[in-house]
Amino acid sequence: MPTDIEIAQAATLQKILPLASRRLDIPEDSLSPYGHFKAKLSLDEVKRLSGRPDGHLILVTAISPTPPGEGKTTTTVGLGDGLNHIGKQAMICLREPSLGPCFGMKGGAAGGGRAQVVPMEDINLHFTGDFHAIGLANNLLAALIDNHIHHGNALQLDVRRITWRRVVDMNDRSLRDINVALGGPGNGYPRQDGFDIVVASEVMAIVCLATSLADLKRRLGNIVVGYTSQKQPVTARDLKADGAMAALLKDALAPNLVQTLEGNLAFVHGGPFANIAHGCNSLIATQTALKLADYVVTEAGFGADLGAEKFIDIKCRKGGLKPACAVLVATVRALKYHGGADPKKPGSDSLEALEHGLENLRRHVENIQSHYGLPVIVSINRFDKDQPDEIALIDGFCAELGVACVLATHWADGGAGAADLARAVVEACEQGAAKAAGLYADADSLADKIRSVASKIYKAAEVVFEPKAQAQMLEWQAAGHGGFPVCIAKTQYSFSTNPMLRGAPSGHTLHVRELRLNAGAEFVVAICGDIMTMPGLPKLPSAERIDVDDGGRISGLF
Ligand code: ADP
Ligand code: MG
Repeated sequence: MPTDIEIAQAATLQKILPLASRRLDIPEDSLSPYGHFKAKLSLDEVKRLSGRPDGHLILVTAISPTPPGEGKTTTTVGLGDGLNHIGKQAMICLREPSLGPCFGMKGGAAGGGRAQVVPMEDINLHFTGDFHAIGLANNLLAALIDNHIHHGNALQLDVRRITWRRVVDMNDRSLRDINVALGGPGNGYPRQDGFDIVVASEVMAIVCLATSLADLKRRLGNIVVGYTSQKQPVTARDLKADGAMAALLKDALAPNLVQTLEGNLAFVHGGPFANIAHGCNSLIATQTALKLADYVVTEAGFGADLGAEKFIDIKCRKGGLKPACAVLVATVRALKYHGGADPKKPGSDSLEALEHGLENLRRHVENIQSHYGLPVIVSINRFDKDQPDEIALIDGFCAELGVACVLATHWADGGAGAADLARAVVEACEQGAAKAAGLYADADSLADKIRSVASKIYKAAEVVFEPKAQAQMLEWQAAGHGGFPVCIAKTQYSFSTNPMLRGAPSGHTLHVRELRLNAGAEFVVAICGDIMTMPGLPKLPSAERIDVDDGGRISGLF
């Protein structure tokens, strides 16, 4: 099998404007082309479409992830192609890839094998410049903060209480904690600062939850950048930053349209982290896709305990979305890992390990059914070395659980390999059994919201709030932010906060170290365990293998 990039480069792409007009009846005038194969849909067209009825929304999520990824994006693309393959009109909604993982360890995020969105090099690298705009809007605010202090600090911002950080879309650990404004009085007031990766910026989360330019500007204005010496919050609006930030983001708010290898259409738009943010593509893209297609397949980051929970409790709650069913992606390799297999120890990946690992699958299936209220279909993302007895074991387990299980081979076969999965999804949509509801009510206290997620989804025995988190909770509750949903930031590798506790641990303690108020994105982040907002590069970064030849052909991206 050729590599992802070889497959992508061998594909014949169709011009995006006529393709969109033919397949989805999108008028060419409402698309702004970025080259021949990428386009932005105008916000006027987004508004014009808003009166139409919605198609079915399908969430692709997964068992607890392992470091290489389980194939959620690949399955999202494969299922979109599969639905079109069986004669349905389907669209795909994905996040835009971050450059950090592209040059680091994980690689790009445009799918894989014969289930990819293209042009994959563009999508994985600069694409339509959204991340550039988001980074600049974030850094404009940072520059205005330091400038305000330099010119007399009329708002009396306490330089020790500034919470707004700078961002860059790169894994660069040396920027995590830095000093700025060194070099004398002409350069401002020295203070400790730091960089996060662009996808961790609150601006990214805001772009992905905003419903219009007006809503975007309102949310940007509400961002809290720090506190005065009397501990009063200072907002981006106080700094008169919201207008200019929104101006920088005007085009970034419009969804990006691209195609799959099979010529089906996908919005690839927005890309918030799934730990300190909600991990889903933009609400505008999802809402618009639901107006354009009968079936919309979308992905939420990490496992069903993190991305899917935030999809339900943040994105669907705020956007009024009503998903019809969830596809839970599992791989033999990852299930064995959850059952104790050690990738470095040959022979440890036995059938017995697989059997133990199925407990992780069971937990996610039960959570999706009973707490998210969604019918679930298990999709085994088939790898070449998977054995028939291994597939049969998963199949039998799902039959006992009473849940549909489908073997999907879209990675090797494209949409035809996901035709069975597509049929199972259509059946679930048509049955209409979904009763999606959030885990908690808006009116619940922030503490109760965190406890709901911890006890119902993570199966934690208790939640311990460190004194700092306790104080923040009371303060924000009093300031009127108690109605926000919570966004729990914890390791993706375990239901607990210990990444080594694989499988289906229960009875553990969730320690909430601190909270972060995202008054613009309108959620409160609960930091549990060590969460990285600026990753580092590994010893052997993928960047070392990426190259471009004299003809402009890129190699080494995956
Ligand atoms: P996720 O979205 O869950 O993080 P991706 O869909 O991005 O995972 O897949 C991660 C990587 O695994 C990609 O490089 C993809 O090509 C590869 N991959 C996915 N499915 C398969 C498969 N069935 N066989 C081989 N490689 C696969
Ligand atoms: Mg993915």
